[in-house]
Order: sequence, then structure tokens, then C-alpha cells
Amino acid sequence: MRVLISGAAGFIGSHLVDYLLAQGHEVVGVDNYVTGTRAHLEHLKGNPRFLMIPHDVVQPVRVDGPLHQIYHLATPSSPQAYALHRLETIKVNSIGTLNLLELSLEKQARFLLASSSGIYGDVVVTPQREDNFGNCNPVGLRSQYDEGKRFSEACAMAYHRERQADTRIVRIFNTYGPRMSVGEGRVIANFVRQALSNEPLTVYGDGTQTRSLCYVSDMVEGVVAAMNGDFHEPINLGSPEEVSIVQLARQVLELIPGTTSKISFEQSLAYDPRVRRPDITRAKQILGWSPKVALKEGLQKVIEWLRQERKAQERR
Ligand code: NAD
Ligand code: UDP
Repeated sequence: MRVLISGAAGFIGSHLVDYLLAQGHEVVGVDNYVTGTRAHLEHLKGNPRFLMIPHDVVQPVRVDGPLHQIYHLATPSSPQAYALHRLETIKVNSIGTLNLLELSLEKQARFLLASSSGIYGDVVVTPQREDNFGNCNPVGLRSQYDEGKRFSEACAMAYHRERQADTRIVRIFNTYGPRMSVGEGRVIANFVRQALSNEPLTVYGDGTQTRSLCYVSDMVEGVVAAMNGDFHEPINLGSPEEVSIVQLARQVLELIPGTTSKISFEQSLAYDPRVRRPDITRAKQILGWSPKVALKEGLQKVIEWLRQERKAQERR
């Protein structure tokens, strides 16, 4: 197949590119590099099955030749990144989504939206099932992202219902792994970087807030399974293993025995959700998918990756 990925130079996007190429497909990557990294795709230079198009998907997307599938991942995605790029976030999650849905109709390509656990907002019921409609503040500090994703889901369903677009929606929960952005303040990247540098691990608030953290290879498999399935309604993808942020900080410290870092409790973030845990019954039943990589194993892989990155930086 010939597959387009918006957000191909990002963390999850670049892993998805590698996965689809390894499966023998042709991949067209589209990215404007607002939060992406060219280096994530450098190893693919000269690969005849990979084409990179530097482009902002807020502008109409034109691609020569056939396309069979479109994965729409493009958007600033960490709280820090979408606070820094509010307008870009709201535009890519509205105009960008509409542009790619139009492209999917033009090419008769299947369309998958990478939505987010953000659509559940500050949840009152946990774990979150897909029939939970969320608790979001439309004018809150995260609304450009949360409401953007909610609108994108509405766009996918409207195109599916009225124009018979062949759409899929996955709601991605916190994902981590090599290539996650180290400068964007995401919790695992922060804690591992801080522990390797013997700096304090910054826990925001009292650290009792929880997250469920999914390793990136599991996430990519789930996203591809959803694309290749035949279910149009949203499917949660994420780890059902919930951990408090302070527990996570302790676990990172245990895995880096030589570190002199200690935990430092800092001011809590505005609109920081208290809990996040997906109910993945639907993904299990419909896709036969559930994550395989345990948190400890995944953390060890991130630690090893960041160690190598630091060594490479020192050599440069
Ligand atoms: P990322 O920031 O690493 O990747 C997103 C990519 O999109 C970047 O390369 C960026 O440059 C690109 N992009 C942004 N706006 C664009 C535009 N207008 N045109 C073209 N390219 C554009 O983020 P990620 O963590 O890889 O997230 C990928 C997807 O998964 C996103 O849709 C995100 O909302 C979703 N998601 C991720 C997580 C997570 O924990 N990483 C959690 C929930 C949902
Ligand atoms: N967090 C933290 N210290 C950090 C970075 C994040 O305590 O250095 C917390 C943050 O307040 C949130 C959780 O970790 O409760 C996950 O944050 P992240 O930005 O990774 O993702 P989110 O789930 O908020 O999108």
C-alpha cells in the first residue's frame, strides 16, 4: 500500500513510518517540523519507498499518485508544546483535519485520526470508556488541544456519515519511548533526563495524580490494527496500568542506581487532570490488542536511549 502520515517527523509518527516501511509499504511523510525532528527520519534518506513532503497540513495537501491510507497525527501534542503554539494547534486540529479528510475522499483512501485521552478532560469516572463524553472546559488553558481533538473526531464522523469516508478514530493515552521530545516537559523524558544529570526530579503538585503509560511499539501496533480493522467509532489505546506521578519518580530513581537526584515537589500545573486510565476492553475485543511492554522494561529502554543520546551529543 501507499500510506500517508501527517506528523511523520514526530515521536509516534516516526516510529509508525519505520513500522510501515518494515511491513513493505510505501510511505509518504508530511510534516512542518513545528515540534518534529528531522533527525528522526534521517536514517531513511535514500530509501526509495519513503518520500518526505515538508508541508503545513493547514494548507491543502496535494500528493501525486495513489494513496490507500492516511494517518493524521500532526499537531503539537504535549501540554507545553500546545501552550506555546495555541493557534497552530487549533488550526491543525480543525482545518488540517478537514484538509486530510478531503484528501481521503479524493484518493478514496482510508483515514485514521489520532485523537487523544485529552478529549475526556478532567475525568470524573475512571477508567475512561469510549462512551464517556468527557469533562472539558471549552475556554480552559488546554482547550486548543482538547476541543481541537473533540472537533476532529466530530469531523471524522460527519465525513463518514454524510460522505461515506472510510474513517477510524483512536484515542491515544500517554505514550513514551525513544525519540520522545526531551525539551517538551513530558513526565518520563523529564524524570529520566533529570536523574541522569543528577538534578532534582520535578513532581508537580503532591504527585498523587495518575497516568497510564504505554510504550511506543505497543502504541504503533494498536494504531495500525485500528486502521486495518473495520470499526468507525473511537477506540481507546493505552496502558491500563495506572501509576501515580510520585511512584513513577521513585521507579526512575531505582532504575538509575548511581544518581544523586532527589524528588522535588513543585507548584502544580493549571488544569492538570487528576487521573488518566483507559478502559481498553474495546481494543481487546475488536482488535485483539493490548500492550505487552511492562513499565519497568519500557523505562529501561528510555534510560538506555537517553544515555546514548547524551554520549552522541558529547561527541559532537
Ligand atoms: P509530536 O509533537 O512528536 O509529533 C507531531 C508532529 O506533527 C510533529 O512532527 C510536528 O512537527 C507535526 N505537525 C504539527 N503541526 C503540523 C502541521 N500543521 N502540519 C504538518 N505537521 C505538523 O507528537 P506525538 O507525541 O508523536 O503525537 C502524535 C499524535 O498522537 C498526535 O496527534 C497527538 O495528539 C497524539 N497523542 C500523543 C500522545 C503522547 O503521549 N505522545 C498522547 C495522546 C495523543
Ligand atoms: N509532571 C510532573 N513533572 C514533570 C512533568 C510532568 O509532575 O516534570 C506531571 C504532570 O503534572 C502530569 C503528568 O506528570 O500530571 C503527565 O504530564 P505529561 O506532560 O507527560 O502529560 P499529560 O498527561 O499531562 O498530557
